[in-house]
Amino acid sequence: MGTCHFGKVPPQRETLRLSNLSLSDTSLICLLSFFLWIAASGCAIQPAERPTNIVLIGWDGAQLDHVKECLGRGELPNLKKLSAEGSFVEIDVQGHQTETEPGFAQMLTGYDDEVSGVRGNEKFTCIPKGYTIFERLEDHFGSGSGHASGSGSFVTVALFSKGHRFKSDSPDKPYYNAAKAADVFTNGLNEDSNVAAVTEKMLDLYKGRHFFFFVQFAGADRSGHDKGENSKEYNDALITYDKLTGDIAKKLKDLGLYDKTIIYVTADHGFDEGSRGHSFAPYVFMATNDPRGIKQGFQADVTPTVLDRFGVDVKKIDPPLYGKPLTK
Ligand SMILES: [Zn+2]
Repeated sequence: MGTCHFGKVPPQRETLRLSNLSLSDTSLICLLSFFLWIAASGCAIQPAERPTNIVLIGWDGAQLDHVKECLGRGELPNLKKLSAEGSFVEIDVQGHQTETEPGFAQMLTGYDDEVSGVRGNEKFTCIPKGYTIFERLEDHFGSGSGHASGSGSFVTVALFSKGHRFKSDSPDKPYYNAAKAADVFTNGLNEDSNVAAVTEKMLDLYKGRHFFFFVQFAGADRSGHDKGENSKEYNDALITYDKLTGDIAKKLKDLGLYDKTIIYVTADHGFDEGSRGHSFAPYVFMATNDPRGIKQGFQADVTPTVLDRFGVDVKKIDPPLYGKPLTK
């Protein structure tokens, strides 16, 4: 990290020191303020610096307008807190049907359906080898493929509520290559509370390593199909997404990792207003505690945002990524 330098003492520390001390010994004052700052700040990520870890959380079927309404009613306190620390922006989905499989495929590759091969739910070929965020990060950090217990210090973890949308068990399935490269790739965790519990367990396991986690929640998509976008059930599922996102943030805090970890929350697709489907639902969002701040953009920008934040030169990626990093 290397964030604890002299000369970066926040202004409030300076004020505190000056009001309590009337020493003229500059070096002593600097030393005191240095220790005060160390004790108080925990070396939070500075905007210009790279995070140690990133956690990307996918809220399946979270419609932009409904999320905004929930935020307005104070129902998503954890998303609000993340946004207050960083940003909340609108994200548009382009280049594929607004369905789960192509949505997450674009989020996790940066490509539209022609390149990823994931055209729709149940309409896919295997995502070409090396194209997913997991494979690119494993390559970048040189931590090999699928060896969490090996010598590499970087760990990639993928945890999915849905099983049938993230198949990896044979070479014709979308995530066949990704699952081999990621250190942990577990689909079919079902209940969102279980996804969060496994996420916390994995954070315990890999707290001493650098990591990228991808976590997929799915309750709102299920409730939306079952009861409709304007139902209490859909609304409650968004509230559950928020609570579990908060649980993950709290776990990072308990482990002393929060200040070194950027959380990005986004969605694969939205929901048709008042409907039980999402045939044209390209309006989603991204919320983050990233101190750099992010700007409005597209789903294809998610992959370059994560890769760039970890120091990958996204301009050198082949085939070229469509999107650009959202960070300012
Ligand atoms: Zn759906």
